[in-house]
Amino acid sequence: MPRVAWRTRFAPAPTGFLHLGHVVSALHVWGIARAFGGSVLLRIEDHDRQRCRQDFENALLDDLDWLGFAPDLGETSEFRKGAHSFRQSDNAPRFESALQRLACRNLLYPCVCSRREIECATTSPNSEELLYPGTCSTRNVDPSLTTARRVRLSQTIESFNDLRLGPQSQTPSLQCGDFLLRDRLGQNTYQFSVAVDDFEQNINVVIRGEDLLASTGRQLQLARMLGRTDQPLFFHHALLRRADGLKLSKSLGDTGVAEMRESGMSAARVIGKAAHAAGLIDKPVPVSQSQLQDLFSPTS
Ligand code: GLU
Repeated sequence: MPRVAWRTRFAPAPTGFLHLGHVVSALHVWGIARAFGGSVLLRIEDHDRQRCRQDFENALLDDLDWLGFAPDLGETSEFRKGAHSFRQSDNAPRFESALQRLACRNLLYPCVCSRREIECATTSPNSEELLYPGTCSTRNVDPSLTTARRVRLSQTIESFNDLRLGPQSQTPSLQCGDFLLRDRLGQNTYQFSVAVDDFEQNINVVIRGEDLLASTGRQLQLARMLGRTDQPLFFHHALLRRADGLKLSKSLGDTGVAEMRESGMSAARVIGKAAHAAGLIDKPVPVSQSQLQDLFSPTS
């Protein structure tokens, strides 16, 4: 049977400047794609209009260019002439049509619950995460009162085999309950945007940080509701942590790619530093773009 070509994506949100944690993600995406003969789509995830900024997007594209991470899938974009990339907010109608498809099957309902009301209601048994108790699912809320829309989940257990972490099973209805697809500001949520785009863009390998592991079951169930019949492969890589255990973040003062570049470091040294921090190589030696795939070679 011919193997289906791998299509993966790098999907940063322009909510800050690129730091070493992003480089770790990018080197996994491009390295794995190259090692297994796949292609990469660059998708700018700007669904959170409050936090996304144009200067972050420009800086992010410049840093990726400098590092040599070039996408090879997607339309020739308007916002970056000549480069293959995609910006989520540039094509809003597909989200409307996805909501319509769910609404027609009674899989969507308006929600007027405040965060405080939900906080008072319940948390998920095994985590701090809020579990929406379904309050509005039976309330017959007038849809004109709010733009907030939740998906009506089934009790299904979602199973998938993570290429790094092994077999996983998640039950979204017990973890977070009916989650929001659109919020009360009228913005599409992360889960909704990613499920729609990974489906519509035929992404069949999802490579991202393990902080997003719990989202996978939600996105799988939602994608099926939207009509997706195949299941992508998943690889959730380990995250870089600061000494205090927190995730890396520019707002916490972690060194950005731009600062490393300005200090005279080469792109290969930055990638090598990220590969070393991620435990992929023993010493922080430079790693060029053409050496990336060796870190993930199928025979290694
Ligand atoms: N946009 C998300 C982020 O910047 C990543 C989305 C994904 O890979 O599913 O964290």
